[in-house]
Amino acid sequence: MKFRKDEALVLHSRKWSESSFILTCLARESGKLSLVSKGARRPKAFTGAYHTPGSHVELIWIDHSQRDLFSLVSIDPLVQVSVPLEYLRFTAWMRILRLVKRTINPESPHPTGYYQLIRTLQAIGSDKTDARLLYLQFVLRWVSELGFPIDWSRCDRCGNLVRGKRLAILVDRGVGICENCLTGKPTSPEEQLLQISGETYAWLRKLDAMSEREVKRITVSDRAREEMETVCMRYGEHHLGFSLRSVFQ
Ligand SMILES: [Zn+2]
Repeated sequence: MKFRKDEALVLHSRKWSESSFILTCLARESGKLSLVSKGARRPKAFTGAYHTPGSHVELIWIDHSQRDLFSLVSIDPLVQVSVPLEYLRFTAWMRILRLVKRTINPESPHPTGYYQLIRTLQAIGSDKTDARLLYLQFVLRWVSELGFPIDWSRCDRCGNLVRGKRLAILVDRGVGICENCLTGKPTSPEEQLLQISGETYAWLRKLDAMSEREVKRITVSDRAREEMETVCMRYGEHHLGFSLRSVFQ
C-alpha cells in the first residue's frame, strides 16, 4: 500500500453508498483512475463541489496494488474550469468528457491529450468561441492522440498538395485525395471515401492545426460546417468503434 499524487480532470462522478462518490478521472501521469471518495456527500463535506465532471483537481490516493478502485485521500481544486451554463456548450462539454472516459485505459497516460482536454474545456466554458467547432477540433485531436492522425500534407494518389473544388478524405486511412485524382480514377468500393468541398478540406486542415483561442476568430459557412461535422464524426466513429453524436442533435 502506498500513497500516490497526481493532477487530474474529473470525467464522471456517481453516487455510491450513503455518503460517497465514485470518480472516474483522467490523471496527467497515471491515466484513467477510478476512485472512491468516502464521505464526500455528507452535508459538512466541503469538497463535494470538486467532484463535478470537468473539475481540474489535485488528488492523493491510496494505491492498493491489484485493485482497480482506489481510495481517495484528498482532493483539491486547481485552475478553475467553469462549467458552461448554456445548453449547447454544456452538451459539447459533456460529450467530450464521455468520449475521453470511454476511450482511455488504466495505466496508459495521455499527457498531451490531458492538456488538450483542459484547454478545450476552458474554451467551451468561455462564451465567445463556437462550441461546435471546438467539439469537432477535439474529436480530431483526440483520435490523433489515440494513434490515428490525419495526414493533411499530400494527396494519397499523386503526392501533390490536396487542392481543388471537390476533394475527398479516406476515412479509414486518414488521408486526402486531390480533385484530379478523384475524377481521374475509380475508387475501390472498400475505401471509406467521403467527398467534400475544397473549402471544407481547407477549414478542417486549419482547425486541426490552430489553437483553441484561434477558433474564436473564424467564421465558417454553414455548408462547410456541416461537411466538417460529417468528416469528424465518421472519422472518429471509424477509429473509435462507436457512434459519436453531433452537438446539434
Ligand atoms: Zn492527387
